[in-house]
Amino acid sequence: MNPILTFKDVTFRYHNGTTDVLHDVSFSLEKRSFTVLVGPSGCGKSTLIKLAAGLALKSETAGQVSIPEKKSMVFQNGALLPWYSAIDNVELGLPSVRGDTSYREKKAREALGLMNMSEYADAMPRDLSGGQRQRVGIARALAAEPELLLLDEPFSALDPETTDELHRELLDIWKSRGITILMISHSLDEAVTLAERIVVMHEGRIVHEHRVRLDYPRDPTSEIFGKYMAEIRRELKEKRKSVVK
Ligand code: ADP
Repeated sequence: MNPILTFKDVTFRYHNGTTDVLHDVSFSLEKRSFTVLVGPSGCGKSTLIKLAAGLALKSETAGQVSIPEKKSMVFQNGALLPWYSAIDNVELGLPSVRGDTSYREKKAREALGLMNMSEYADAMPRDLSGGQRQRVGIARALAAEPELLLLDEPFSALDPETTDELHRELLDIWKSRGITILMISHSLDEAVTLAERIVVMHEGRIVHEHRVRLDYPRDPTSEIFGKYMAEIRRELKEKRKSVVK
């Protein structure tokens, strides 16, 4: 195994918090793997992915976090600056080096092309659909050619058809560019559609892991797909019960 990211016994508390939101979390990501984190709201998924993004959280942290230099994050709604055009938003994902404007523009156009958004380069976010905005958000993340792509519920606000389309494109990009993906999802269906590995979290801990041994593209109507979903749903339910008791 050749990990690109490693967490070892990570315990984390926000500087203004009174309790730890991650407890002794240990896990690693193999290069070129696709992992999806699932778990109930508030269990620490976003905190974990922010630590993986190296976002300087004002906090107390124990344990070790080892992350790659080249990483990018995609947020739920694309998180575009409304007063910047699509291409300017994508350029924001590139490191700024003086005197390299044409290079930056070339890279940004390439990234927009990857997401089939070339013809919308000059469009403003308000004139784009939710799916198109998220395409720009993903293009911005890809522009800097990250080794690790982090996605925090990127498709949760989109309609099912757009989500299916973006799932296919994300899988193509993952395969063709050899990147490593860590993504948060609140949808088990999405997790089983995309992930090689599903990590189940509960109350700041990793409580289960699954290897999804199915070829792509996956058929959500197949029996085995349903079995993975049912198993994870059962695990989450068990945990909820143990909290209520
Ligand atoms: P999830 O992504 O699974 O919904 P989060 O990582 O967002 O979970 O939150 C985990 C816990 O950390 C929650 O109890 C939440 O209230 C708390 N939390 C999240 N962000 C902050 C913050 N900036 N300051 C203090 N507490 C936070």
